[in-house]
Amino acid sequence: MIEFQHVSKQYSADGVALRDLSFTIAKGELVYLAGPSGAGKSTLLKMIAAMERPSSGKVLVNGQDIGALKRAGIPFLRRNLGLIFQEQRLLNDRSVLANVMMPLLVTGSARGAAEQRARAALDKVGLLDRADAQPLALSGGEQQRVSIARAIVNRPQIILADEPTANLDRASASKVIDALHAFHSVGVTCLISSHDEQILDAAARVIHLERGELMKEAA
Ligand code: ADP
Ligand code: ADP
Repeated sequence: MIEFQHVSKQYSADGVALRDLSFTIAKGELVYLAGPSGAGKSTLLKMIAAMERPSSGKVLVNGQDIGALKRAGIPFLRRNLGLIFQEQRLLNDRSVLANVMMPLLVTGSARGAAEQRARAALDKVGLLDRADAQPLALSGGEQQRVSIARAIVNRPQIILADEPTANLDRASASKVIDALHAFHSVGVTCLISSHDEQILDAAARVIHLERGELMKEAA
């Protein structure tokens, strides 16, 4: 479902972010991406979403070469992806429900149907009772779970989460991870970056990056 073939990314003459990465992630797999800050985790995730292009090599998603995608093809790709990135903050001037409805309204869903789907998504992350709250009234962990609801409301086949437990306490972090695992258990392919040892210890598959290089996978 996701395949990297000898992918390298160089941002500048001395700024190599990824070096000759090759790996495959099967449909329905849950994979963690580990490595210290600066190892290239965000860059790798962004390539899958066509937010960055490889300098060389190929990134395939469902057999489609993402680096060769035309600009007009990017929205179609992203519709298949649930993105949980630091850059995509919740909008604080509207309710939790309105935030989760947004991806549906953008793609032309009717309001009533969008609201129903958004409430179902909030229910799945355990936050239906906070639908009418403003994001800033929620804890960091709750806000992150709202981001997950917003990311999955379009029923993507793949979830990409960049450090979703950063800055969260242990209890909040495990609720965020549980919410992600719940989608994995219904067949969604998940790729989650983390440097939380406790989370990584419990993970089935970890792809480990160091200075842009793939370390031997610890199974
Ligand atoms: P991680 O997510 O593991 O912290 P990143 O993918 O953010 O790693 O960064 C990998 C390397 O690429 C770092 O050296 C970082 O400074 C560099 N980098 C990331 N984004 C850019 C950018 N837009 N322009 C230049 N260098 C970048
Ligand atoms: P924007 O209009 O803000 O550039 P896009 O979603 O079109 O928003 O692009 C987001 C990022 O994706 C940009 O950094 C852009 O360089 C990159 N990008 C644009 N086209 C492609 C492509 N075909 N493949 C990979 N990355 C791309």
